[in-house]
Amino acid sequence: MSAGAAAPALWAPALEASIDLDAIAHNVGVLTERAGAAVMAVVKADGYGHGAVEVGRAALAAGACALGVATVGEALALRAGGVTAPILAWLHSSATDFVAAVAADIDVAVSSTAQLEAVVTAARSLGTTATVTTKIDTGLARNGVGPDHWPALRDAVATAVAEGSIVLGGMMCHLAHGDTPGHPLNDTQAARLDACVAEMRRAGVIPRAVHISNSAAALTRPDLSRDLVRPGIAVYGLSPLPHEFDDLPLIPAMTLSAEVVMVKAVAAGQGVSYAHTWTAPRDTTLGLIPAGYADGVPRLLSNRLRVRIGEKTYPGVGRVCMDQMVVDLGPDTTVREGDRAELFGTGAQGGPTATEWADTIGTIDYEIVSGIRGRTVRSHHGGPRNGGS
Ligand SMILES: *Cc1c(COP(=O)(O)O)cnc(C)c1O
Repeated sequence: MSAGAAAPALWAPALEASIDLDAIAHNVGVLTERAGAAVMAVVKADGYGHGAVEVGRAALAAGACALGVATVGEALALRAGGVTAPILAWLHSSATDFVAAVAADIDVAVSSTAQLEAVVTAARSLGTTATVTTKIDTGLARNGVGPDHWPALRDAVATAVAEGSIVLGGMMCHLAHGDTPGHPLNDTQAARLDACVAEMRRAGVIPRAVHISNSAAALTRPDLSRDLVRPGIAVYGLSPLPHEFDDLPLIPAMTLSAEVVMVKAVAAGQGVSYAHTWTAPRDTTLGLIPAGYADGVPRLLSNRLRVRIGEKTYPGVGRVCMDQMVVDLGPDTTVREGDRAELFGTGAQGGPTATEWADTIGTIDYEIVSGIRGRTVRSHHGGPRNGGS
């Protein structure tokens, strides 16, 4: 489904994730301003569940300079979707097709000399020059080259640049404590990256772009912005920071809504859903929502969520099942079959949010939005029309 259909919306999917691309554009603007640097919008994992191509185009139209993804496969999918802007990919395996990556002009972030050699071989076989970024482990201890192997990678990069098989697109690291803005490791990691950049310059190679910051650092530590920042979650309007930073002007881009597909009266004492974990305390009316854990509604939210219908919110009652869940509409409800329930959205007027779900079950909203799936129909609204890039 796409926006702009001429016919009025007489029909809406039973379960819909509606993505507001104007919110994406707004959030990119907030990030650019706060960071005081260009934004590489991270659209890995299908744009954190929002649609990588659509979000990528909207972010680029809003001024982002590049897109970042984990895998070469994700990068190639963006190219196939018509994105011509710079794309960086940083997580590789023995199956990664570096020839396809170089042929599609993907900036490949390497974490080892073996990965660099694979890219150099690909560039030679294509008779072209590859763009490479060095990903340096300055303290996260995940991917990235560690200090013991860094000198070898630095020298191999210098050699490959000198022979013309690569250009150094960037040097990057990723923060371990970005969501704790004052944590001393943030400064230590930045200093370690800066030292590597200085070594690279002494080896005669100047990276086009140096970058450190994720969303949290982009929003709170402009002093860590080098040439660009690499936010993901904040592009989608969700904040990785503690609740004391909740006044950030971000707009959540995903609204998950469903049709109330059945409304029925039950008597006091009626148990609801599997194992009757909730029992009607009074005569009441139940609303049936066609969304369950196979669609990304965590079963742990059983008896712990609320949905918004019209102006009111109603509690979810009983188990969240694979395909459906139930809400208590109260004894004298005006809710009718066919009404729409907002499961989460922007939080405007006190409505539920993905962050609320995450807080309730002890996870992060990244996991909620990137996990929406199953029967959900995704649609995009606003944003650039027939956008290029
Ligand atoms: C996922 C990721 C990001 C974005 O992180 P957010 O916390 O979503 O802003 C940036 N850089 C790297 C290397 C990543 O893996």
